[in-house]
Amino acid sequence: MSQIDPLAPLRDVISRHDLRAKKALGQNFLLDLNLTARIARSAGDLAGSDIIEVGPGPGGLTRGLLAEGARRVLAIEKDSRCLPALAEIAEAYPGRLQVIEGDALRIDPLEHLTPPIKIVANLPYNVGTELLVRWLTPPQWPPFWTSLTLMFQKEVAQRITAQPGSKAYGRLAILAQWRCEARIVLTLPPEAFSPPPKIDSAVVHLTALPEPRFPAEAKTLETVVATAFNQRRKMLRASLRGLDPQIEARLERLGIRPTARAEELTLEQFCTIARDFG
Ligand code: SAM
Repeated sequence: MSQIDPLAPLRDVISRHDLRAKKALGQNFLLDLNLTARIARSAGDLAGSDIIEVGPGPGGLTRGLLAEGARRVLAIEKDSRCLPALAEIAEAYPGRLQVIEGDALRIDPLEHLTPPIKIVANLPYNVGTELLVRWLTPPQWPPFWTSLTLMFQKEVAQRITAQPGSKAYGRLAILAQWRCEARIVLTLPPEAFSPPPKIDSAVVHLTALPEPRFPAEAKTLETVVATAFNQRRKMLRASLRGLDPQIEARLERLGIRPTARAEELTLEQFCTIARDFG
């Protein structure tokens, strides 16, 4: 019995179901249920929300979420070897855990859920950024979720929360911070996982703002930001020339230094440029 629920400790679950970690699936499992409960708590009030969890694996974070009172958890797992272990959790929490076997990049979980919806996951590193970008760029805002609480490699977490002028500042920071409050809530050393990854990890909590911080058309902003950071070492007058041959005059009219580099520009300045492109 573990400290947070009547189920067996995760080490026993993993050895009983022979869940040897597969690198190709980004499997680094959390074994400490007090830690998974802590991650679950960092997602805020769970009792009134349905939760999407991507990649439950042997169920450490799933158990944390359920023990901390999540109304319902919908977990999407690609590795069928994990399903028997997850079925044991579903039995211990009747009616509160649904597991879908499949690829989170291809499954639309919405039909199974009732708002408000939070997303909480220890993401597989190989699809983590792609999923985040999808969640940050829905066709409409506010999105279907109210918050994202996600474990990433620390370097990715730093890119999400980075400020102008830093090396980590780029497209991910702008996408995240334009319409969300984003902060790192927990940093974890490699030893927190089995097997231990080579680098530190961090949990980022993003709360969807009701409106973007500054007005801009989403697709135009994404294009301007992607173009500017594509050649991040170049001055804006060179990196943005492909969008407008007269970019230098345009930037001057907007009060933005044409010799600045993308990483020096604030979110507000990127939105100003995007608005000017209409
Ligand atoms: N949540 C567990 C934990 O915290 O211990 C496992 C996290 S492990 C980093 C990532 C999990 O995502 C693995 O269980 C892996 O099988 C699963 N996974 C990998 N790619 C996936 C995909 N495309 N869709 C759904 N699950 C995936």
